[in-house]
Amino acid sequence: PPLYRQRYSFVNDLVNQHKPKKVADLGCGNASLIQMIKSHSCLELIVGVDINKDKIELQRCRLSPFSGDYLSPRDLNLSIILYHGSAVERDSRLLGFDLVTCIELIEHLDSEDLARFPEVVFGYCTQIGVFQKIRAPATESCIVEQCGQHVYKIVYSVSY
Ligand code: SAM
Repeated sequence: PPLYRQRYSFVNDLVNQHKPKKVADLGCGNASLIQMIKSHSCLELIVGVDINKDKIELQRCRLSPFSGDYLSPRDLNLSIILYHGSAVERDSRLLGFDLVTCIELIEHLDSEDLARFPEVVFGYCTQIGVFQKIRAPATESCIVEQCGQHVYKIVYSVSY
């Protein structure tokens, strides 16, 4: 398979292995990785961040559920939040994730941003959070909500 698919598979395997609840994808671009991992039942929150506002605008519809998703409802609610931001800024919205991914991002950073990147990701973002597990099986609905300029929240709700 092409290299980008191998990278997505690598992340997919990590999700399988470590069962994170919260994943942040820095430089999410067209949200292909999010699309690929969102079916994992362990996930409760996926955040995608990209510096390109237009990409954020375009991807929100793509992340709505497939009709097949309704046939096998999740046990846990899942929220996907896309926002405009930078992987080289300390951003408190990126705190407390179990897994932080960035695929094909660093080669797009200039040398100044590249120097800031490790400090932001490894020194600031990657803190382990404690999350409450909510059990709520049965029907599933999805709401795509605009919560601000270039901020979209996609909520998969599961209820009795
Ligand atoms: N990760 C996606 C994938 O694998 O399909 C997209 C990869 S694309 C080659 C690089 C992405 O990084 C672009 O969407 C670009 O807008 C984004 N990007 C570049 N610099 C960034 C930064 N400082 N913070 C966040 N995103 C950035």
